[in-house]
Amino acid sequence: MLDMERRITPVRAVAMGTLGLALIICGPWLGWWTLAPLALAALGFRLAEPRTEGAEHPEYWLFAAWAASEVAIAVAVALSGGPHNPTMAWFAIPVVTLSSRFSLRGVVAGVALTLAMLVTVALTTAAGAVAHNPTLLVAPIALVLAVAMLSTALMRSDFEHRNEAVIDPLTGMLNRNALASRVAELAQQSALSGEPIGLILADLDHFKQVNDSLGHATGDAVLSDVAYVLRKQLRAFDLAYRLGGEEFLVLLPGADADQTEVLAEELRTAVGAASVGGGVDVTLSLGVSASERGSAFDYAAVFAEADAALYEAKRSGRDRVCSGQADRGYASLV
Ligand code: GH3
Ligand code: MG
Ligand code: MG
Repeated sequence: MLDMERRITPVRAVAMGTLGLALIICGPWLGWWTLAPLALAALGFRLAEPRTEGAEHPEYWLFAAWAASEVAIAVAVALSGGPHNPTMAWFAIPVVTLSSRFSLRGVVAGVALTLAMLVTVALTTAAGAVAHNPTLLVAPIALVLAVAMLSTALMRSDFEHRNEAVIDPLTGMLNRNALASRVAELAQQSALSGEPIGLILADLDHFKQVNDSLGHATGDAVLSDVAYVLRKQLRAFDLAYRLGGEEFLVLLPGADADQTEVLAEELRTAVGAASVGGGVDVTLSLGVSASERGSAFDYAAVFAEADAALYEAKRSGRDRVCSGQADRGYASLV
């Protein structure tokens, strides 16, 4: 949500500039004062922005600023001719942005608030005219509703597309695309905090045999169940990725080499004990490594160590954890 807010901010400034220009051009007919509510709406967003950083409920601040922009439109429309004024349609403009920042509940609340203001403005300024020609009220209400529905559908589709780009559909795990940006973030964070970062590479043993003997569909079910078993063992902030095929990668922020080994052993035990894919027993080989406490996270180096350790785990018999920490050599835990 905050990510979308950041992307919307520059466009919103341009859109408000466009509305301001329209009000300047129409100044002789509307009155220049209509620029004041627009400026207040812009100020509302400015004030809300710093309060969203680190706030427990940033969406409340964003919603307050959003509602203030609708109030500004309501005041301007009410004081400049009510429903007869073509600016009545501007009620629909903030509605476009609702679904990009708020949940469905927020969208419904925003649309309800907008319609309440729109009806109040129309009935308090020109009830007679509305009774004579209900189009004055019905057309803007329909515009607000249509804009809300279309923008929500578009937003949802955009969200699903972005999810598809980073989530593996079979296992629900993050995929390689998601890994690159997370690695860059972790490297930056660890450079500041000096916290170690553990990395586990895991590969199912003899998985080709599962496919060959039980079929690809069973193989898929095994992968999906193994992913579930792995995720269940992890802490909320650990990150699990499917690198491809039957290979998984886990990043453990804050975990040193020993803690990473302990967790890898728990993953191995959990997968070994679980019956997956409707009754198949599989085992997992794992290679682990971690960055040193006090030094930045060098992903390429840590990955290479874990990869070499995974190779060693396979070579020395599978169903085991090997550590790739160079100074300790390949230490098998099994
Ligand atoms: P090892 O113990 O050495 O890891 O042996 P393995 O058989 O697990 O390794 P190998 O790399 O030879 O085979 C991996 C197999 O994984 C081959 C491929 O058909 C299968 N595979 C890769 N992706 C998928 C998938 O999405 N679904 C299914 N069912 N199988 C997959
Ligand atoms: Mg394998
Ligand atoms: Mg493999």
